[in-house]
Amino acid sequence: MTEQVRVRFAPSPTGDMHLGNVRTALYNWLYARHTKGVFLLRIEDTDKERSTDEYCDNLLKIMKWMGLTWDEGPEVGGPYAPYKQSERTSIYEEHLSLLKTKKMVYPCYCTEEELDLERKRQLGRGHMPKYSGKCKQLTPEEIKQFDAQGKPSVLRFRVPAGEIIVHDEVRGEVRFPDDQIGDFVLTRSDKSPTYNFTVVVDDSLMKVTHVIRGEDHLSNTPKQILLYEAMGYKPPKFAHLSIIKGADGQKLSKRHGETSVESYKAKGYLPDAFLNYLALLGWAPKSGEILSLDQMAAEFDLTHVGKSGAIFDHVKLHWMGMQYMAKMSLEDLTRALLPYLIEANYFTREQARSRFEWLKGVVDTVRTSLGCYSDIIKETFYFFSDELSFEPNQTEEMMGQKALLESYEAAFAAVEDFNGENFMKAVKEVGKQTGSKGKALYHPLRLAMTGREDGPELAKIGPLLGKAEVLKRLAVWTKQEVQ
Ligand code: GLU
Repeated sequence: MTEQVRVRFAPSPTGDMHLGNVRTALYNWLYARHTKGVFLLRIEDTDKERSTDEYCDNLLKIMKWMGLTWDEGPEVGGPYAPYKQSERTSIYEEHLSLLKTKKMVYPCYCTEEELDLERKRQLGRGHMPKYSGKCKQLTPEEIKQFDAQGKPSVLRFRVPAGEIIVHDEVRGEVRFPDDQIGDFVLTRSDKSPTYNFTVVVDDSLMKVTHVIRGEDHLSNTPKQILLYEAMGYKPPKFAHLSIIKGADGQKLSKRHGETSVESYKAKGYLPDAFLNYLALLGWAPKSGEILSLDQMAAEFDLTHVGKSGAIFDHVKLHWMGMQYMAKMSLEDLTRALLPYLIEANYFTREQARSRFEWLKGVVDTVRTSLGCYSDIIKETFYFFSDELSFEPNQTEEMMGQKALLESYEAAFAAVEDFNGENFMKAVKEVGKQTGSKGKALYHPLRLAMTGREDGPELAKIGPLLGKAEVLKRLAVWTKQEVQ
């Protein structure tokens, strides 16, 4: 019988959830669903200074918003609870005792300054910095003496000699030569355990079969393999995902725009669109690019995850958002947009009720341009305000079009039923009268009505603005003195 797949997402609640983390969570979730395995969520909060409950709560909220539900973890529990590292202290202590008994750890009293100096010297000699092993030589008497003096110490793992080979599901065989890994720290001076140690204890006890995580952890993997061996556990399979890069090929950071999920949620991206886009950063599904979570889960496999770093492209994400918004009914979309319009002071709650049908019309004109809900703000400004602003060249153009704009005024004034059809008849009439065609005919009218170079069809905008408003916007130009 093949072993049931058990994967985990193990975030540290030390900040907002980053796009790279989301992709890691997603791939783990997809792999679990694909294999009918178990997806567990573990909170790695041993760094007491940087971890907060608030970040932890946000993390759970964001996971739920995305629909990445977990089978075991906080709130739902599971056979290997607790799933928060800060609640597993006694488990780590037991494992530490085992390593102490086996004489695989030793206390190190080197100060930060000493270690820093050592690192600098090694770098100066062109060597990779690693701990020299100085405290390994301490005699039991010296240790006793240091402890009696109250000297702070950390516990280091005694790294055995030998090359370490990581068989990575994505990257193939990765070799770590003998001399690359120095004796590393398992507990800090405040006795709290470090990531490399807790992760191995937990992944072992939680029976994790595959560790799927970011490439930035690849260099930790040989250390972890050594700890599995030292504690008598079988290492899981590893799959390290390439980092997500910005358009300039550098690691994605704030410089490239927003990197936290929170900000994309706040912008009003649909979670499915967002996940669909992120899934494509490193994985090329065979059945096309637009896939629901279930469809992705049906297809997802580690063998099709790529090695090269994927580039995060805001334009493509927006495009993906558009594909998903287009699937929403006009009614649902309009309702979903209301909070954004109210927040922008375009609309009050009362108007939302009394003018809902009108609003649906407005939304309908721009719905194909929306990649996320907040796009509605910039796309529809001119429907809610007549405070349009113009660039100097636009003003100049309009000043030169007084005669054309006056013809529009007269033609629209004569229209009784100001619907799209009659609006267009009037526009054509103006064309005939003035001899203007194409852009020359439409552009000044668009500018006057919307203050925009482009946008939805004027025949749709006109009736939504209404005759009085269109005439008012034309009058801004026709009543102006030409200087
Ligand atoms: N807590 C670690 C992180 O957030 C988890 C790394 C791992 O998946 O092993 O980076």
